[in-house]
Amino acid sequence: MDPAHAPAAAIAANADRVRARIARAAAAAGRDPAAVRLIAVSKTFPAEQVRAAAAAGLADFGENRVQEALPKIEAVADRRLEWHLVGALQSNKARRAAAAFAWIHSVDRVDLLTRLDGAAAAAGTTPRLLLQFNLGREARKAGADAQDAPALFAAAARCTHARVCGLMVLPPWSEDPAAARPYFRQLRMLRDDLERSGVDPALLRELSMGMSRDLEAAVQEGATIVRVGTAIFGPRTQR
Ligand SMILES: *Cc1c(COP(=O)(O)O)cnc(C)c1O
Repeated sequence: MDPAHAPAAAIAANADRVRARIARAAAAAGRDPAAVRLIAVSKTFPAEQVRAAAAAGLADFGENRVQEALPKIEAVADRRLEWHLVGALQSNKARRAAAAFAWIHSVDRVDLLTRLDGAAAAAGTTPRLLLQFNLGREARKAGADAQDAPALFAAAARCTHARVCGLMVLPPWSEDPAAARPYFRQLRMLRDDLERSGVDPALLRELSMGMSRDLEAAVQEGATIVRVGTAIFGPRTQR
C-alpha cells in the first residue's frame, strides 16, 4: 500500500470525527444532524480507500474529474454508493457525467444544464443537479453570477430528466477558515431570495457548502451537504 494512504482503521476513525463535528455544529445551530449529507471527496485517492470509507458507513463519494472518477466508480460498482461530481464540468463530458453521477454540483450555465438534461434523457438517468455560484467573483473559478440565477432556474424548470435541487458554493481559498462563513451565508440568502421571487422550492432544497476546514460554519449557516476530503482520507499529495 502507498504509505501516503491512510489505513482503513484511520479512515474509519476520521469518518467518526467528521460525523461528530457535524453533530456538534448542528446541535449548536438547533438543526437535525441527519439533515446534513456527508460527501467523502475521494479525488486523488484509489478505489481501495473508497472501499475503506464505505466499510466505515459512508455512502456518498465526490470526485472532481470525470476521467479520474469513471474507473473508480466501476471498481466499486459492487457497493451501493452515490457518486457526486463536485468539480467543473466541460460540456463535452456532459454525456458521461450524466450517465455515471447521481449528483452534479457544478452546473453554472444554461447550455450545460440543457446538455446534461438531454444526456440524462439519452442515458435513461435522472441526476440531481446543483447550480454553482461564484460568489467571490474569482476570475478563473467555475460558478455563475448571482444575477444569472433567474435564467438558470427558468431553464431548470424546463428539464425533463435532470432535476435541479439546490445551490453550491466553493468560497475563495483562505488561510482563515472563518473567511468562508460570509459566502455560506450569502448562498443561503440567495436561496431565500429565489424562493421569495417564486422559484419552486423543490429546486432549492439543498445547499452544498463546507469542506474539511470550515464545515462547522457551513452547517451553522444551513448546509444540507458538506464535501469533505482531507479530514477523511488525509492530505492529498497530487492535485
Ligand atoms: C477537493 C474538494 C473538496 C474537499 O476539500 P477538503 O478541503 O479536502 O475537504 C470539496 N469541494 C470541492 C469542490 C473540491 O474540489
